[in-house]
Amino acid sequence: MFWDEKIEMMERGALEALQLKRLQATVRRVARKVPRYQQKLAESRVQPRDIRSLADVHRLPFTTNADLRETYPTGLLAVPKDDTLRLHTSSGTTGKPKALFFSAKDVDNAAELIARCLVMTGVTKRDVLQNMMTYGLFTGALVMHYGAEKVGCLVIPAGPGNSEKQLLLMQDFRTTVIHVTPSYALYLADFLEKKGVDPRRDLALRKAFVGAEPYTEETRRKIEQALGIDVYNSYGLSEMNGPGVAFECEHKCGMHLWEDNYLLEIVDPKTGEPLPDGQTGELVLTTLCREAMPLLRYRSRDITSIIPGPCPCARTHRRLHRITGRADDMLTVRGVNIYPQQIERVLMSLPAVGRNYQIVLEGLDEMTVNVELAEAGFDGHVEHLTRLQSEIADRLRAETLTKPKVHLVPPGTLPVSEGKAKRVIDNRSL
Ligand code: AMP
Ligand code: ZN
Repeated sequence: MFWDEKIEMMERGALEALQLKRLQATVRRVARKVPRYQQKLAESRVQPRDIRSLADVHRLPFTTNADLRETYPTGLLAVPKDDTLRLHTSSGTTGKPKALFFSAKDVDNAAELIARCLVMTGVTKRDVLQNMMTYGLFTGALVMHYGAEKVGCLVIPAGPGNSEKQLLLMQDFRTTVIHVTPSYALYLADFLEKKGVDPRRDLALRKAFVGAEPYTEETRRKIEQALGIDVYNSYGLSEMNGPGVAFECEHKCGMHLWEDNYLLEIVDPKTGEPLPDGQTGELVLTTLCREAMPLLRYRSRDITSIIPGPCPCARTHRRLHRITGRADDMLTVRGVNIYPQQIERVLMSLPAVGRNYQIVLEGLDEMTVNVELAEAGFDGHVEHLTRLQSEIADRLRAETLTKPKVHLVPPGTLPVSEGKAKRVIDNRSL
């Protein structure tokens, strides 16, 4: 099950030699074409000829969100504007977006990487892929769309939401694969249950590619059980083409990051110092093949680690651990640092808990967790609810070392967003 066996199985020495050649070419190109990088390289006192080994990447300057914002809209282009073919922007941010340009080669290359990902999980041209990501400026849907077409799948550009329509499409066109955010996958599972649709009996679904926002192993299991399918973790970011950067193979034990296209580092998020394989830190990526808009050492803010050792599939590209959060997501409540994923892990491991939750911060430093009950979670006995509420509160206290209030709400009553879920509402008056 390979799309490009030669590259996917490339021996490490050859892969690293290829990376070095591409890194050197990338640095030479940005030094010639991109004034911002000319300035940054000069400030770091490094020249293209100083990059003699892969370890020399540490001498290069980081690229941050500020670089992208300050050079908006076209300041980081390394090709004439006429040679660009597509514009995407990065989602979920306030103020000016980040503009990401693709050349014809970049569009094709992004689709190639998706094709590798899909084939790695067993997708073939016989599959029908219903793409439930948002079409538009967001990379999530279009990049997946082109990649799935390359494999020869029938692609249904459904977009997110409108669950009645999703169901109709899944039934009538025998959809086998969905591409979806974890929050919408959970919502859809609820919707099907309410409709009396048993996915195992009534649908042809086999797989879901789930990504675009952090989620836990417990959530993966919940989606797999509710829909009777395999869920593969799919990671990407607009700054690196969108989806297809790292993806799970059939073994579902970490996401292979395509190292012929991206140079991978994990650094200490505070100091920027490189960390060895196995240690948790911030993912930093350098594009190795991008033509229109190459980026050196982009600080993703995503927290993860490299899983040391080979994968049972024998692909040589190293694997990333599930993203445990974004450096910016960390909440500080009464002096304690908490990642929303810690809360999700507790909630999603409890069968009586439904599929949606929300963290509200208010007042001076009060945290309330609103928790939807499962459809079968309430049997009419109020004392059972009280017991569940204190069980959740105890577990959250043990996990986060804080004392959040727990508020149980009926299934389907918390807001669902069509794009990325908004889990944290911070109304603190600090
Ligand atoms: P965007 O650039 O708008 O596509 O957003 C990219 C961001 O979404 C990444 O930097 C991550 O924070 C998040 N993301 C994407 N895929 C995943 C995933 N599989 N697991 C966790 N976070 C993800
Ligand atoms: Zn593998």
